[in-house]
Amino acid sequence: MLFDKTVFGPIRSRRFGASLGMNLIPAAKKICTFDCVYCECGWTDKPESDSFPTRKDVREALETKLHEMLQRDEKMDTITFAGNGEPTLHPDFSEIIDDTITLRNQFFPNAAITVLSNSTMLDKESVFEALKRVDNNTMKLDAGTEIMYRRINRCYIKKQTLEHITENLMRFEGNLIVQTLFLRGSYDREKIDNTTKEEVNAWAERIQRIAPRKVLLYPIDRATPAEDLEYTPKTELEKIAQKIEALGIKTAIYD
Ligand code: SF4
Repeated sequence: MLFDKTVFGPIRSRRFGASLGMNLIPAAKKICTFDCVYCECGWTDKPESDSFPTRKDVREALETKLHEMLQRDEKMDTITFAGNGEPTLHPDFSEIIDDTITLRNQFFPNAAITVLSNSTMLDKESVFEALKRVDNNTMKLDAGTEIMYRRINRCYIKKQTLEHITENLMRFEGNLIVQTLFLRGSYDREKIDNTTKEEVNAWAERIQRIAPRKVLLYPIDRATPAEDLEYTPKTELEKIAQKIEALGIKTAIYD
């Protein structure tokens, strides 16, 4: 599913309640530094683009929408950056976050700002700093070992190994949420399974090093571009969550 607007919704989100979506990716295209086998936007078109919506367009679209919502007395819990790919790829991501904070304070001061990111753009200092300014910087970490990371997330940037991403996530000093999708199956004749004992232990070690304030666990929810992938039952996610809770880190399961 691809969004054709910069601002969409509000939609009812399992995680975040009434959520106004922000898509910083060009309309009806998918741009991402990952090409995850389970991505609900389908396979990645390109890892970069030169046709992002301008900062001004984003600000105006958001202001118009917030104004309309206020007039209609609509409820909003969060403004969520997600959409057709990786939001932090926008060249003005940091400035857009500042505009969003200003508009949120003006129209819906009690709403949170959430960014769903794949964690690959944290070497860019302005992105890292902007993520520290939002309420819910929710960062992806889907594997414990480098091999499973490569099979699941299929990153375009060589430098962004799982270890490099882990080290960058540690730089938030606990001020982050980690989200992980658990799945198994195969793609391109390679086995995919981040639910084995070995994988879960390696992933839990990384979570312990990162020490986020919360970990969100999910199974596959919608149709995936790779066909041979399986849903992970809630009972298994609960066992994995218990491991993390034993480390003193909160968890939530969205099945
Ligand atoms: S990081 Fe998100 S948008 Fe990018 S390929 Fe993975 S699931 Fe899709």
